[in-house]
Amino acid sequence: MPNDSFTPGVVPGRLEPETYQEQFSDLHPPLDAHEALVAADRCYFCHDAPCITACPTEIDIPLFIRQIATGTPDAAAKTILTQNIMGGMCARVCPTEELCEQACVRELAEGKPVLIGQLQRYATDHLQQQDIHPFSRAPSTGQKVAVVGAGPAGLSCAHRLAMLGHDVVVYDARPKAGGLNEYGIATYKTTDGFAQAEVDWLLKIGGIEIHYGKALGPDLSLDALRDGFDAVFLGMGLGGVNALGVAGDGKEGVLDAVNFIADLRQASDVASVPVGRDVVVIGGGMTAVDAAVQAKLLGALNVTLVYRRGRDRMNASVFEQDLAAAKGVRIVTHAVPTAVLGNGAVREIEFAYVDAAMQPTGQTLRLAADQVFKAIGQTFAGDGMPALENGKIKVDAAGRTALEGVWAGGDCASGGDDLTVTAVAEGRDAALDIHAHLTGKAG
Ligand SMILES: Cc1cc2nc3c(=O)[nH]c(=O)nc-3n(C[C@H](O)[C@H](O)[C@H](O)COP(=O)(O)OP(=O)(O)OC[C@H]3O[C@@H](n4cnc5c(N)ncnc54)[C@H](O)[C@@H]3O)c2cc1C
Ligand code: SF4
Repeated sequence: MPNDSFTPGVVPGRLEPETYQEQFSDLHPPLDAHEALVAADRCYFCHDAPCITACPTEIDIPLFIRQIATGTPDAAAKTILTQNIMGGMCARVCPTEELCEQACVRELAEGKPVLIGQLQRYATDHLQQQDIHPFSRAPSTGQKVAVVGAGPAGLSCAHRLAMLGHDVVVYDARPKAGGLNEYGIATYKTTDGFAQAEVDWLLKIGGIEIHYGKALGPDLSLDALRDGFDAVFLGMGLGGVNALGVAGDGKEGVLDAVNFIADLRQASDVASVPVGRDVVVIGGGMTAVDAAVQAKLLGALNVTLVYRRGRDRMNASVFEQDLAAAKGVRIVTHAVPTAVLGNGAVREIEFAYVDAAMQPTGQTLRLAADQVFKAIGQTFAGDGMPALENGKIKVDAAGRTALEGVWAGGDCASGGDDLTVTAVAEGRDAALDIHAHLTGKAG
């Protein structure tokens, strides 16, 4: 149920009904077979390819591109999925312009990389649309592993463990699997129910049982999981959000951007999601950009994204910043919120300009706002967890926590970028270490 439907000025259906589908259509429409061949032809199949090292899951990119070029896209998909079981989603959401495509020698030489992300999508879609699952399970090891969280980290870990012959039970607090693939990624990056289709496809490996509506904490204890299973993997993501910490923060119309985005992703009709006329988004990461762009696509008249530092310090990539600008989002930098104004509901928000050292310059800015989205970072929420480091579960390079028999990965674990592809890599690598540990091959 979309939230905030009673805030004055925040209404659903700002656009003509027929325009919504176009507004929220695929950001990068898929390549057809001919386009894929032309794109694959640009690859130099480099020895020591820098694109591989730039990929957190270390997919053999020149190999899969060659497989596309030789007319075997399903083999290409298997190459991708062997390293990254969510290669289909990553092809849609990875900031390739900062990862593989940034490292591509054709980007360095000509400013025009091989379209690695789109080729990856071409291959994985080709295989998944035929409903082929190219992996099978090893003989049963008789070992059982509990996975907490059915996001990219948890599902990647579960899939690899199931492949290696372990039985896996996944617990997730939400009613659907996929984590932020289902509840967080922008609507125009994953269209047509792809997130759930990918989960259904992934589960075809067998040996994975998912229990929904079961949260570690209220419903399950870590001690009980450690007693009942041979190993435990924690992939709970970041459940908390930072507060603005200014006067008026609690006024009607001031919302967490992640909740707005989740409402939009879960709406059966995006036209039913209410949006303001004057929307202000506070933050500088992907969540901020996604909330701002989607508010604009829903028909908000003025959308302003306000960030406390310069554009070069924004976590959102240059591509994302340009996308926001292209959609009509105004970006204001070097400003911090000082007060949310309004009688009950927000009407205006005041900012102080700051210099590079974050010191007030004495200048202020007031923006009309009937909806304010806070996107100033997520935090790890959880009691009774293994030792933390910088607010996240402390892990070593193999994903081991300070508790014997407990591994962690993805956003809830220390180290690594908070990206889908990193979560998949960490889930996979923890599974390999759990397997080595359970089968006595661990160092
Ligand atoms: C709005 C938004 C947009 C983003 N866009 C991009 C993007 O375009 N590209 C990109 O690469 N990355 C993006 N990211 C980051 C990416 O989504 C995350 O890095 C990734 O989802 C992390 O995966 P995870 O499995 O660690 O956690 P999550 O995806 O958060 O999954 C955690 C799972 O654990 C469950 N859970 C939580 N607490 C409990 C509990 N106590 N007990 C049981 N289950 C629990 C949750 O319900 C959830 O299913 C975005 C993030 C946000 C917030
Ligand atoms: S760096 Fe670019 S050209 Fe070289 S193998 Fe990778 S994708 Fe192909």
